[in-house]
Amino acid sequence: MNVPSSFSSESDFCSDCGSVLPPPGVQDTVTCLRCSHCTPVTEFLGKFVQTSVVFNKLDTIKLSNETEDSLELKGPLIDRRCSRCGFEKMAYYTRQMRSADEGQTVFYTCIKCRFQEKEDS
Ligand SMILES: [Zn+2]
Ligand SMILES: [Zn+2]
Repeated sequence: MNVPSSFSSESDFCSDCGSVLPPPGVQDTVTCLRCSHCTPVTEFLGKFVQTSVVFNKLDTIKLSNETEDSLELKGPLIDRRCSRCGFEKMAYYTRQMRSADEGQTVFYTCIKCRFQEKEDS
């Protein structure tokens, strides 16, 4: 068994037989390859748990920002003054309301402060 080079902590050994444990995967336990002793991930790898928590946080922040951008800043920019911060560019898009009689609603999003307003046409 070749241990991946990124996995090189001195504390990650089986408490039964002392052989190096494989990196934790999606499961809650890591099984020793030599003696099949199961070790709960939370008990034996404070370092790994911490690292993965940090990574998850970064991923979450990054993903939510991307999602927000694509949701709120869709559509072309127009010269429109934001009524909240006074910035003069806003993105806009139109959405057809449920009934065709009601016409379109135009949504504006300030690209600076993300203030949103809508206008019925
Ligand atoms: Zn073992
Ligand atoms: Zn604004």
